[in-house]
Amino acid sequence: LFLTFEGGDGAGKTTQAALLEEWLTDAGHRVVRTREPGGTEVGRLIRDIVLHHRGEVAPRAEALLYAADRAHHVETVVRPALERGDVVIQDRYLDSSVAYQGAGRVLGTEEVRQLSLWATGGLLPDLTVLLDLDPAVARRRLDADDKPFDRLEAERESFHVRVREEFLALAGAEPERFLVLDAARPPAELTATVRDRVAALLG
Ligand code: C5P
Ligand code: MG
Repeated sequence: LFLTFEGGDGAGKTTQAALLEEWLTDAGHRVVRTREPGGTEVGRLIRDIVLHHRGEVAPRAEALLYAADRAHHVETVVRPALERGDVVIQDRYLDSSVAYQGAGRVLGTEEVRQLSLWATGGLLPDLTVLLDLDPAVARRRLDADDKPFDRLEAERESFHVRVREEFLALAGAEPERFLVLDAARPPAELTATVRDRVAALLG
């Protein structure tokens, strides 16, 4: 089972992914929790480029770096885990590229999606939890947490509005794959809703 969490910066993806991992592990499942960019050693080098050399990297090069990170991660971590029968919980996947590089950077959502599908051999999640949040609310959250190197610092508001709208459009286009949640709801309620859906998938 391949589960991904998506949404803008500060929406609570990492927190929810960790809580889901704990719950599944306690229930006896073998879980691999991972993330993009930077889920592998090669990926951490790529993450360093895309996060710390922001603004220097040409937009198409940036899209290719995210795709390269994803290709390597899927081949060396995600597919092997799925083949072993493990549950993979991933913080960000191809929808992030479609939203950030495709819509945010205006490279074209369909092109970026095709690039990502090529990079991954077409691997799509069984479930994608979209934590939807107003970027202005997210910014206040991240400021309160004092989180560094964030997109919210590096980009204008309009960038994040495009990213959010694209995530919602992606969810609308594939309603069976997506579970869209209002990330402003209390974290415990979000956790419970995610558990219900995952329990249904596990049968
Ligand atoms: O989710 P995480 O905090 O690890 O993401 C690191 C940064 O990379 C974030 O600021 C996020 O907005 C950005 N990012 C991006 N394009 C992606 C994935 C992440 O711009 N495809
Ligand atoms: Mg996070």
